[in-house]
Amino acid sequence: MCSGIHAIPSGPGEFPEAVYSFVICDKLNVMIDAGVANSVMDVGFLDKLDYVVVTHLHVDHVGALSEIVQRYKSKVIVYNGYSKYLKDPRKINSDARSVLGELVDIYGEVQPTEATFLEVNGGETIDLGEKKMEILYTPGHAKHHISALIDNIVYTGDSAGGRYNGVPIPTTPPPLELNKYIKSLKLQIGLKPRAVGLAHGGLTSPLHLEEHLNQILSKRFKANLDIGGMAEEILNKHLEVNYKALEEALAKENIELD
Ligand SMILES: [Zn+2]
Repeated sequence: MCSGIHAIPSGPGEFPEAVYSFVICDKLNVMIDAGVANSVMDVGFLDKLDYVVVTHLHVDHVGALSEIVQRYKSKVIVYNGYSKYLKDPRKINSDARSVLGELVDIYGEVQPTEATFLEVNGGETIDLGEKKMEILYTPGHAKHHISALIDNIVYTGDSAGGRYNGVPIPTTPPPLELNKYIKSLKLQIGLKPRAVGLAHGGLTSPLHLEEHLNQILSKRFKANLDIGGMAEEILNKHLEVNYKALEEALAKENIELD
């Protein structure tokens, strides 16, 4: 029997902590994001998994989805209109290839998912037993990005950046819709969560959200991350692309201050 909250590295063997999936156990069990296809993720402790929330359809969040769903017959929660890309993931794979290049070979390609899909718009509440899960619409990183709030912990996917070695980092490749992103970030700050579950960084303090917002507003978002080895190489490849996205977005969009 599973209980409590689990932050599970679901990146590739070369850098397991590149991605985290979260499992929250109650009467019904939920997983937030499903890591990469070549995942090291170990979910052997789970006897059942009722829902998988897909925060968005990037290869590092849906890679192991088909396998997990096959095994547990979980329902898949995804933004309205987007389940078709999980059934036929060719677009997910080709988009990833054009943004991430050979990193896709390390992560692995997404396979078609056959499941019962629950398409959502944000605003839905799902009963898990003791706890409730609230779905939030958090666009910016992607048009179809959702986050989940469970027991006052917000699972942000890629809508609130990432964090390694105590340093917040941008995690959005081009095209970044900056004002939508900032609005989504502020929405999640406004929830005053007791913790934050980052798909790239794990469970962390809610202070992360403000730190990440400030690094964008102050345009000081370049981090010097000394984590070494293959992990650092992979992270730096992402960061190069993500810095470019922020620079492009800052040149194009005036930040709307409210
Ligand atoms: Zn991601």
